[in-house]
Amino acid sequence: MKLLLPLLAVLLAAPLRAEPAASGTNETETAWTGTAVNSEGKTIAKISVDTSQAADLAAWGKHAGELCVEWYPKIAALLASDGFIPPDNVKLRFRDGRGVAATGGNVITINAKFVRSNTNDWGMVIHELTHVIQSYPGGRNPGWVVEGVADYIRLTHFEPQARRPRPNPEKASYQDAYKTTAIFFEWVEKTHDAQLIKKLNRVAREGSFQVELFKEYTGRTIDELWQEYLASLSPGPNSSSGSNTPVRPASKE
Ligand SMILES: [Zn+2]
Repeated sequence: MKLLLPLLAVLLAAPLRAEPAASGTNETETAWTGTAVNSEGKTIAKISVDTSQAADLAAWGKHAGELCVEWYPKIAALLASDGFIPPDNVKLRFRDGRGVAATGGNVITINAKFVRSNTNDWGMVIHELTHVIQSYPGGRNPGWVVEGVADYIRLTHFEPQARRPRPNPEKASYQDAYKTTAIFFEWVEKTHDAQLIKKLNRVAREGSFQVELFKEYTGRTIDELWQEYLASLSPGPNSSSGSNTPVRPASKE
């Protein structure tokens, strides 16, 4: 059943798909398609965007689609593994729902309500697009690894200038997923193993991730790495009365 819905949505949207609209019409374009091409000029995926149920987000959706066209080949290269070919089409669809977004297989469903109040969150699109390329087998890897890798791609490669939140050493864990894990991965990669993410991605794709692999890759257990990472951070608001938290830049882009 789950598979039918996106297919249906695309079929319904197809007749509306428009190349540059004929002048003089007020018709809102609610479907957009593009092609992701790799560095050798080979088409690797068709990207389609369906805003038929959120026509006010047509322009946002088109930009999201263009981002996917640009970033799909980059993420595919960053998360390459022997014999793996990423899905050859990706669908983005906008629906009024809950939360931020969800990705199942090659279908990214974005909550239209979230976008309306977070109009600059392009990093979210990159995070979801990463899930399509990860193609990890369901239920075989810890969630913090899956989400940590997705946010690593977002932060380290798409938002390198974004502020890195400082974890609270008393509460935080490398298993917190998302940003906390991503920034930890970033640090391990920089400090101990430049190939860390490629290796983690390969084993996660095979469904054989084990935390012991950190010892194999870096010579340190993940707990030792986490302690070393915490120790490397400059003192923050938790260890003194002042606030050393860097000020968030006015603009993310
Ligand atoms: Zn995610």
